[in-house]
Amino acid sequence: MNPKPTSGYGLRLPADYHTHTALCKHATGAPAEFRQAAATAGLAAICFTDHCPEPSGYDARHRMSLAQYPDYLDLVQPLQDGEAPVVLLGLEADFFPGTEPFLREWLPRQPLDLVLGSVHYIRDWGFDNPDYLKMWESVDVKGVWREYFSLVSAAVDLRLFDIIAHFDLPKKFGHRLRDNVMTEMVQPVLDRIAGAGMALEINTSGWRRDVAEAYPSPLILSLACERNIPITFGSDAHVPGEVGHEFAKAVRLAREVGYSESLQYRKRQPSRSPLPRD
Ligand code: ZN
Ligand code: FE
Ligand code: FE
Ligand code: ZN
Repeated sequence: MNPKPTSGYGLRLPADYHTHTALCKHATGAPAEFRQAAATAGLAAICFTDHCPEPSGYDARHRMSLAQYPDYLDLVQPLQDGEAPVVLLGLEADFFPGTEPFLREWLPRQPLDLVLGSVHYIRDWGFDNPDYLKMWESVDVKGVWREYFSLVSAAVDLRLFDIIAHFDLPKKFGHRLRDNVMTEMVQPVLDRIAGAGMALEINTSGWRRDVAEAYPSPLILSLACERNIPITFGSDAHVPGEVGHEFAKAVRLAREVGYSESLQYRKRQPSRSPLPRD
């Protein structure tokens, strides 16, 4: 009944390379349900990228412990049975200063298909967490963006991640910068990503938030395209119903800014694949 996996995407939508499991304590649904949702959405593949363990204790409320990591493998690996959609194993390795020694030593030894790099904290402030939304009232928004991008730059420089996830996350609740300010601030970060040979994710979860825009913005995406920074697609699904969320719209956005390909990963090796046409 299941169609065989295709090379490329064929008529299917690109793979969803950003999904979570219940091990992160803020997602629900069995991985098999996520995969079924990927099949229903017409995706070629789905990668689980749950929040990486951080034995330092960083943000322990939102991730599996290191002791639970084997449980993560036990959740995902049984689904790697060759049936379509293909199931890949990844992690969202949130970067925070101080987490580098563990990530450096541990990440490269794991049997992963891809690793997302992301930033969720500025010092002790989870700036994308609705529980700390009030904090936005007492900060200099431009200063927050500046600090955020310096953390993303540090994450890029580690050379431990394949793809930068939700690149302009601080806009989540609507705290945007003017286009000219954003352009000036973001260009050196994009140059760094290009230099590191990393990809950017089009994260469709922004369409489910106040900002009502995917990450990154069309402006940033076109600056990324000018630099030939490759792209992947991610829904950041924390429930099965979010898998592949608005992927057709995301593909259209990618085409509009000039992309004709996206990346596929296997064992952390990227290969190019043409974007599907409408
Ligand atoms: Zn999460
Ligand atoms: Fe994230
Ligand atoms: Fe995520
Ligand atoms: Zn995320």
